[in-house]
This record gives sequence, structure tokens and C-alpha cells, in this order.
Amino acid sequence: MTSEEFIRFDRISKRFGANVVLDDLSFSVGEGRRVTLIGPSGSGKTTILRMLMTLTRPDSGTIRVADDYLFHEERDGELVPAGDAHVRRVRSRITMVFQQYNLFPNMKVLRNVTEAPIHVLGRSREDAAARAEELLDLVGLGGKLDSYPSQLSGGQQQRVAIARALAMDPDVLLLDEITSALDPELAAGVLDVLREIARTSDITMLCVTHAMKFARDVSDQVLMFDGGKIIEAKPPAELFEAPEHERTRSFLRSVL
Ligand code: ADP
Repeated sequence: MTSEEFIRFDRISKRFGANVVLDDLSFSVGEGRRVTLIGPSGSGKTTILRMLMTLTRPDSGTIRVADDYLFHEERDGELVPAGDAHVRRVRSRITMVFQQYNLFPNMKVLRNVTEAPIHVLGRSREDAAARAEELLDLVGLGGKLDSYPSQLSGGQQQRVAIARALAMDPDVLLLDEITSALDPELAAGVLDVLREIARTSDITMLCVTHAMKFARDVSDQVLMFDGGKIIEAKPPAELFEAPEHERTRSFLRSVL
């Protein structure tokens, strides 16, 4: 592995019935890079993130994170999913934030953030709480430790979900349209928090979003998906200023 191939998708295909979602797709993401996935709805962006979480399996191809395989295609074309121990190791490096924040409704904010570090990582209650308080400060919710999710706005709940994901100390943060359910002002607050995280950490980020200004500010690279392929992969300034493909131009016109 080179650090430029921290995450590697190699010749990945996936269909649901007759619907070819990913068609022999290869790309890699360097360690610490921020990559945004854009493209029309249904073009397979979320499927990519779900494969990294082992929630969806490819039909063929190989996915590697650092030196670990999640799915490995053998020479005879057989797809071999990684064993449980392997998957646990990769999964301990990767966390995902979803469009619907999925907080535990019966737990206060602080406990939402400490629960997994205590039960999955085996942290002490005190250490987990100290780290959670730091992270909740970072996302601007230091004053809400004792609130229940239902007492928070959607934007605040999403910021708790981000703190909860970071509390697992992941190497990779996957963000799946995390502002789509929010009105613009609340979405802007969530994106500001992510900008700050991108600025102050070296976490690798893969982000599916329609927030093009955010993509432009934060990403090292933007991948444009269409028809099961990545049709353009460029730094945001290039992709947004001078898109090469008509399909990219028409997509950008529709979202900007
Ligand atoms: P995007 O994130 O680009 O909007 P997705 O990766 O969510 O696209 O979906 C790609 C395509 O795969 C869509 O047509 C979607 O309907 C289909 N799809 C995703 N998951 C399933 C599933 N579990 N069963 C059937 N079709 C699915």
C-alpha cells in the first residue's frame, strides 16, 4: 500500500436486478484526503460508502483499506468477503454519518457520544466522557450534554451524530448527504463544523453531498459519477471551473 492508495476500489461492479449501479469501477483515496462524490441521484455514490461499511457487497472486484481486504476477487473471479476479524479491524477504522442522524432517543447527548467508545472500544467512563465533552465543544454543543435528542434542532442532532462518529477515533469518516434533511441555515452550521474538522484533523473523508460550495471548500478531489462510472475526477477548482464532460456541465447547472 502507498499512502496514496489508503482506500482502493479495484474493478468493482454491482447490479440490483437489471440495474447496473457500478460498472467496473476503480479509484483510490489517499490517506488524509477529502474526497467528494457528486452525480445524479441513483448513480451509485451511497453504494460506494455502504460497501466500505460492508453493508452492501459488490458482485465482483476488490476493495482494500490500508493493507486489509474487505472484498477480494480471486484470480478465478470468485469474490471472497473478508473474515469477521478482518472486517472488525477495518470497521474499527471507519465510521459513517447518515442523512437521518439515528441518535439513541432515550439517551442524553453525552451518553449518545460515550456509548460506543465504552462498549466497543473498552474505554473507561471517565475517559469517554472527557473526550465526548471535547468533541461536543468542537461541534458547538458544549452546553447541551444533558439534553435529549428530541430537545435539539435537526442541525444540532446532526452535530451530535458527527461528535459520536469522531468519538470512535476513526481514520476514515464517511458522510452520506448529511445536510439533505436540514433547512439551509441549519445545514450551513453543520457544514461549518465539518470545515473545522477538516482544517484541524488529518482524517480521511469521503463525502456524498449536493452542497457544492462545501465540496469546493473542503475537498482535495471531486469524483463525478454517472452511469456506473466515474466520468471525471479532479480537484474542485478544475472540476467546477472547467468541467470536461457535457454530463458534468449539465449536472452542475442543475445543482448550482
Ligand atoms: P446515489 O447515492 O448516487 O443516489 P445509490 O448508491 O443510493 O445512488 O443507489 C444506486 C442505485 O441502486 C439506485 O438506482 C437505487 O435504487 C439502487 N439500489 C440501492 N440499494 C438497493 C437495494 N438494496 N435494492 C435494490 N436497488 C438498490
